[in-house]
Amino acid sequence: MNDQPFLIAGGGIGGLAAALGLARQSRPVRLFEQATGFEEIGAGLQMSPNGVRALKALGAWEAVEPSCVIPSEIHVRDGLSGAILQRIRLGKTFEERFGAPYRVCHRADLLAGLVTAAKRNFAIELNTGKRATGVEDMGEAARLGFADGSTARGAGVVAADGIRSTLRAAVAGEVAPTKRGVILYRGLMPLQRVPPEIEADCVTLWLCPGAHVVHYPVSNWRNFNVVVAVDGTLPDEGWKTPAHSGEVPKRLPGVYRELSLLLAAPASWTRWPGTDLGALPQWTRGRVALLGDAAHATLPFLAQGAVMALEDAVVLARETARGPDLPEAFRAYERQRRERTAKIQEQSRSMSRIYHASGVVAAGRNLTLRLSGPSFALGRLEWIYRWTPDATG
Ligand SMILES: Cc1cc2nc3c(=O)[nH]c(=O)nc-3n(C[C@H](O)[C@H](O)[C@H](O)COP(=O)(O)OP(=O)(O)OC[C@H]3O[C@@H](n4cnc5c(N)ncnc54)[C@H](O)[C@@H]3O)c2cc1C
Repeated sequence: MNDQPFLIAGGGIGGLAAALGLARQSRPVRLFEQATGFEEIGAGLQMSPNGVRALKALGAWEAVEPSCVIPSEIHVRDGLSGAILQRIRLGKTFEERFGAPYRVCHRADLLAGLVTAAKRNFAIELNTGKRATGVEDMGEAARLGFADGSTARGAGVVAADGIRSTLRAAVAGEVAPTKRGVILYRGLMPLQRVPPEIEADCVTLWLCPGAHVVHYPVSNWRNFNVVVAVDGTLPDEGWKTPAHSGEVPKRLPGVYRELSLLLAAPASWTRWPGTDLGALPQWTRGRVALLGDAAHATLPFLAQGAVMALEDAVVLARETARGPDLPEAFRAYERQRRERTAKIQEQSRSMSRIYHASGVVAAGRNLTLRLSGPSFALGRLEWIYRWTPDATG
């Protein structure tokens, strides 16, 4: 394989993870982020055992772990009656079952940890304020073009430029994200603002008719993250549109008292439409590969979007280290990642139907959750959580 650097477009979770993975294979990497800094956008993230394993394989776990929170339990609750339908302990038994822990963190903290790890690696060059506008496969090399008129040449390009990827069209044609009939709200507040009635050290999922709410502490116990998903549509596109005050409580009338107190607590909310990507005809073309949300953006209902980008980075780096044929390495990466990420996308879509059920369907769901118990629930997640860095699927 030639000694030209790898070029990465996008300095989000996927791009930074790919930089770390490739640099660990002794490849020089040049990363280009459009924003002027590695900025905080997004909400809390659940770092399931497969994500922790990916971070360890990328050499970034040490930098990320200190800002993560160790929650005590996961609670699934009925949003109307407040009943606890399921309680999953996250301690030693969980860790032994999956061979790695479960943590929660804020996207900004994960990003900061990845940036710290990348800055420690001399093989990685981080550039900000560089918006990629085009990519060209020239046979023996690939070229990235930027909005400022400059270009960069390298062995290959990893397009990690997110759900609204500019570079995706060069690989897979024009594919727009699809709105899935759900609106997402994010409220972030200091931990002290959380009403005392709320068990703040748990990850809690409230199931309501036409909506669900997830909350947990982040940023080493400094802040508390609340995400609300309600059925509906929005014209907005970005991640940072402020929601009107009172909008969220109004969308969830008649919910259990504790939950309504919590929904009134954040000083501000942001909102965005829940979108994902349909199946792309291909993820790679010659010396160009899509990675993370650019390839397989998913709804957040299995809490696996960022984790899938981390797994992608591990597999992509491993395949490029196997031999000199880069287009074949990229194709091998795609073969190994397609089925798993498609299953995550599909199951995430169906989760909202289950979570948002009402009437007899909700009653049946609640009974099933009560009778089946935590071991059954965890069994259904094994195919996700048991992933290891040497997995080929
Ligand atoms: C409410 C919510 C909760 C979530 N919870 C979880 C969770 O619990 N666990 C989980 O794993 N995931 C979760 N996710 C998903 C997760 O945040 C994303 O899937 C993940 O961040 C994807 O990373 P990415 O690097 O592919 O894309 P992004 O994070 O979108 O990064 C893309 C980067 O590329 C840059 N960029 C874009 N265009 C260009 C260009 N032309 N040139 C240069 N740079 C460019 C952008 O500025 C950005 O920095 C959640 C998402 C939401 C909305």
